[in-house]
Amino acid sequence: MEFRNLKKQYMSYKTEIDEAISKVLLDANFISGTQVKELEEDLARYVGVKYCITCANGTDALQLALMVWGIGDGDAVFVPDFTFFASGEVVPAVGAVPIFVDIDEDTYNISTESLEKTIKETIKRGKLTPRAIVAVDLFGLPAEFEKLRKIADKYDMLILEDGAQGFGGSILGEKACSFGDISTTSFFPAKPLGCYGDGGAIFTDSSEWNELLRSFCVHGKGLDKYDNIRIGMNSRLDTIQAAVLKVKLKYLADRELDMVNKAAETYSRKLKEENLILPMVKEDYYSSWAQYTVRLKDELIRERLQDRLKEKGIPSMIYYKKPLHMQGAFGAYSSYQADECKKAERVCSQVLSLPIGPYIREEEINEVCETVNNFFD
Ligand SMILES: *Cc1c(COP(=O)(O)O)cnc(C)c1O
Repeated sequence: MEFRNLKKQYMSYKTEIDEAISKVLLDANFISGTQVKELEEDLARYVGVKYCITCANGTDALQLALMVWGIGDGDAVFVPDFTFFASGEVVPAVGAVPIFVDIDEDTYNISTESLEKTIKETIKRGKLTPRAIVAVDLFGLPAEFEKLRKIADKYDMLILEDGAQGFGGSILGEKACSFGDISTTSFFPAKPLGCYGDGGAIFTDSSEWNELLRSFCVHGKGLDKYDNIRIGMNSRLDTIQAAVLKVKLKYLADRELDMVNKAAETYSRKLKEENLILPMVKEDYYSSWAQYTVRLKDELIRERLQDRLKEKGIPSMIYYKKPLHMQGAFGAYSSYQADECKKAERVCSQVLSLPIGPYIREEEINEVCETVNNFFD
């Protein structure tokens, strides 16, 4: 069994993808080809924002946003403690201090209570200026943007939506990657919208930031690439990846989100809840199910359950084993920590992600559920 069946996905629209790639090869327009611009238009329309700027990966996308906002020395950026490393990594990369915030135990997204407490404490200590909140749409579920917006307004801060896992999700029909002042996503192959290599995108309604982003991601260009007016990066999406994504975006929107939501429903119906905490999607929220992640009430048997699954040829993953505040790379910032993030710590010791994706078969889900249920029996 595949953890996420990308081979089957490719086979289901192989002809279209092959033709799209082949066209790029024949035209030899590998960098900044017309497909890149077309994809940006498709993405902006799908998400419902004015501007989409593609770039080399989801990490660059986050960093470029911070660069455009001029965030750096003396600034604090608040990051959920339970997420992929990159959500926090970009903050020291621009010279600012990441302050980790505990999570909501139902959704695994940033806790608005812990966030406000942490901001207040940071202001009280008086060393750093709170500038931005990184709001991660973890495992495909959008963060609580209505509440986050109130906090951001109250403290005059910006929201950076990290929608690397959230693309395709929505709240009351409004699409993920439209909630931040700037929002980003990743096209890493295993993400809800993945390409065949690395890729990323940035979304905003601000024409000023759109222009700055387009400059920052091409060597801080002015009039053109050889007129350089600021220090930027080299972060572009390849034309081949854009061509692939144009095809894949269509299928994601037309059917894959429905398919993966059906798979998640099947899991939630068949897994027994005595020993597990199943993922929760609050009313009005729609997940793109980057992961289907359960929690073991008894964390001591997680490894044994993984072994049992493995014996049956079922892959499983632990996203994430360590909260960010315990990562060695962030050791230098521990004195700024204002919340112990105990929930994030607990969740890290309990989570287990099971195989999912639009192309998982019902029989496969049944097999996973039977194995898990039998394990506890
Ligand atoms: C994958 C991921 C990123 C980074 O994306 P890359 O394209 O791999 O650089 C950032 N944040 C989150 C939450 C992610 O899952």
